[in-house]
Amino acid sequence: MTMPNQTAPIPKFAKRLNGLSNVRLPLWALPADWPQQAGEPVNADIFFNQGLIASLKPRSSQHSDLWDLQGALALPALIEPHAHLDKTFTLTRSRPAAPGLLAAIEAMHQDRQYWTAEDLRQRAAKGLTWAAANGVTHLRTHIDWFAATPPLAWLEMNNLQQPGITLERVALAPLGLFADADNANAIAQAVAQSGEHSLLGGFIHSSNWDPAAMSNLLHSATRWQLNLDLHIDEELSPLANGLMWLADYLSQHPFPGHICCSHGCALASGSEQQSRQVLEVLAKHRVTLISLPMTNLLLQDAVVGRTPRQRGITLIKEARTAGIPVLIGCDNVQDAFCPAGSYDPLDTLTCMLFTAQLDSVFDQHSRLICDLSALTGKLAAVSPLATGSPASLVIFPGSDSVTWPLNSAARLVINRGRLTHQRTWKQELSHES
Ligand SMILES: [Zn+2]
Repeated sequence: MTMPNQTAPIPKFAKRLNGLSNVRLPLWALPADWPQQAGEPVNADIFFNQGLIASLKPRSSQHSDLWDLQGALALPALIEPHAHLDKTFTLTRSRPAAPGLLAAIEAMHQDRQYWTAEDLRQRAAKGLTWAAANGVTHLRTHIDWFAATPPLAWLEMNNLQQPGITLERVALAPLGLFADADNANAIAQAVAQSGEHSLLGGFIHSSNWDPAAMSNLLHSATRWQLNLDLHIDEELSPLANGLMWLADYLSQHPFPGHICCSHGCALASGSEQQSRQVLEVLAKHRVTLISLPMTNLLLQDAVVGRTPRQRGITLIKEARTAGIPVLIGCDNVQDAFCPAGSYDPLDTLTCMLFTAQLDSVFDQHSRLICDLSALTGKLAAVSPLATGSPASLVIFPGSDSVTWPLNSAARLVINRGRLTHQRTWKQELSHES
């Protein structure tokens, strides 16, 4: 086993750092002409200025004013592209009566009786605190809507403050709510008037399929200039046609905003030719695909006493080949949909590593938990470590590039040039002993 690196003495919290030296960064985040040695990128020196990155250079001689990381791995700030802060941490009071997605939805509806402002605030704040400690600086939460007016959770989440985390809210309404054009317009208007970081979403499934409602959803988002994040085709049926319909729609009606499609499990159930055609159109329209491996593995093909035969994971490799940006998220954490979860993107990536048989995880696929431009649709031709970007990184002092993200619970979080969280090997060992 590789022993943890010993980083130099840890700087004081809140102290503004001048930068980091001798740090091992992932290949995808480095310039194309970055020098390599023995097949690995050489370590870097990163200079900070006023909380921003001033420059990124291959390691040179000693810089006494920088924090020497002695070769430790580091990533740009992590993102959590898909969570449900309104449902999180409700498992102990609301367990589903049966396996699978629809039983979890029923259990969640039962749990709503407890969703007071205080209950929502307390659970959501806990989720945000966990995410921040893990190195997340941007979190997108979906929030269930049950009518055309905003639910209490939508309003409460707007008041949540977690230093260092940008919070986005997506209105997650069942497709049926968009069947009426006036309703669809009212939902979109309410979201648009909720301020920045607000998006329109919907739950689109063969159990509620309605192409007219889909048209209303797309039209209302266009009218109110909203970006979309859809729960779409979260099932294994080859008859699920949400993504296929969306590809067809976009071919005829270019959408002015950005669209994220979450789940898309059914893509893996159709024919290769069918999925390729859908992916080609989605790529053309800059749609981002978000895969949620933990809940999909738990909820798809779930039957009591029977080993699941299917994985429920969308076609992330084919999507990347087609040029579609891909991200992975935690989805539900400790609720009726998923009893486990940690708000740690590394746990999600570990799950995906085995599920989708990923290789070169640190140098290539760590991008799946860092790529903010893929989430927002804002074109970023440059790396998140480019000059002028926030000096926000996560350092993994106990890891190496071969075994990461396993054995990587220990970490140090730098947010805009300041050390904000630390979880060291030493602390973990004393905790366990
Ligand atoms: Zn979800």
